[in-house]
Amino acid sequence: MAREYTKIPIVEAARRCGLVLDSRTLRREEVEASCPFCRDHGPGKHHLSLNTVTDQYRCNLCGASGNSVSLYARLHGISNKEAYLELTRDSKVYPMPSPPIPQTQEREPRALAERHAVYHEMLSFLTLSEKHRENLLERGLSDERIRQNGYRSMPETPEQRRLLAKLVGSTYDLLGIPGFYTRYDQWTLAGPNGFLIPVRDRNGLIQGLKIRLDDASAPNRKYRWLSSRGRTMRNGTRSYSWIHVAGDRTRKRAFLTEGPLKGDVASFLANDALFICTGGVNATKGLTETILALGVREIVEAMDMDQMVNPQVRNGVLAMRREVQKIPGIRYSKYSWNPAYKGVDDYFLSRVSAM
Ligand SMILES: [Zn+2]
Repeated sequence: MAREYTKIPIVEAARRCGLVLDSRTLRREEVEASCPFCRDHGPGKHHLSLNTVTDQYRCNLCGASGNSVSLYARLHGISNKEAYLELTRDSKVYPMPSPPIPQTQEREPRALAERHAVYHEMLSFLTLSEKHRENLLERGLSDERIRQNGYRSMPETPEQRRLLAKLVGSTYDLLGIPGFYTRYDQWTLAGPNGFLIPVRDRNGLIQGLKIRLDDASAPNRKYRWLSSRGRTMRNGTRSYSWIHVAGDRTRKRAFLTEGPLKGDVASFLANDALFICTGGVNATKGLTETILALGVREIVEAMDMDQMVNPQVRNGVLAMRREVQKIPGIRYSKYSWNPAYKGVDDYFLSRVSAM
């Protein structure tokens, strides 16, 4: 595992080992000290050279050499690892970056009804840019459906984001809502620029928001959850990969696919067919519960055609399939279409366009 070690200045390590330094050399690149290994073959001499650029030591008499950590380890009779930990632990001498917050201490998102209320309010303050509207129209959605589904553009500047947080925060507590965090004691919104996709449960409540990134240079990272996870974001909250439901909730047959926007589009193009969408092939938490709560009798798998090529993705799909097939009384089938079309939404769009 590659990791970056904290720089430990050789002179500091030598001081902590109690070595006698030649004060006349302290401003030099090479600081001289008494050698603790051969004792310079006599007192008052300084054969040990401490290189302040490389943080290495070397005795010109006995040849002992090494770096800050091995010097400390050797003189204290401990391992290099223990020496490193001791040398970096003392914050008075070597300020350490604050340790990352352990997973267990991450803030959990607030309950669904509360998240929905905040996100609903937040979306009401935002608009959809022309560029993003064009993108959605190209996918096959209508203006009316775009409006109904509630897509919005992310505020792009820090000022806009702070203002948004202020507006929403005047009515709602933002602590525990993924995406919001404080910077210099002011609430603001995290996340890349792009447009927001509301991810809804079976009752239409907004579970969370996914962002379709404007900068989609990495083909597999076009979508990201709105989240304020991580130690750099104070008062931030992690997101989960929530299950999205699109289309007519009264249907007894549901299509199963990956990605909320794909489901929105495919459902619209297929006369409001019911779609259950995971946030990824490995993100099946809540899937069984959603299927049971909807009361569907039949699941039709409609994952992207290229997904069975990548072994990791394939295993994820197979695991998901097994989980759904375990649900009592569920009929499970696989939807097949012309493999020239990657996703079920692309395929439906081609059919609609041909008509
Ligand atoms: Zn020596």
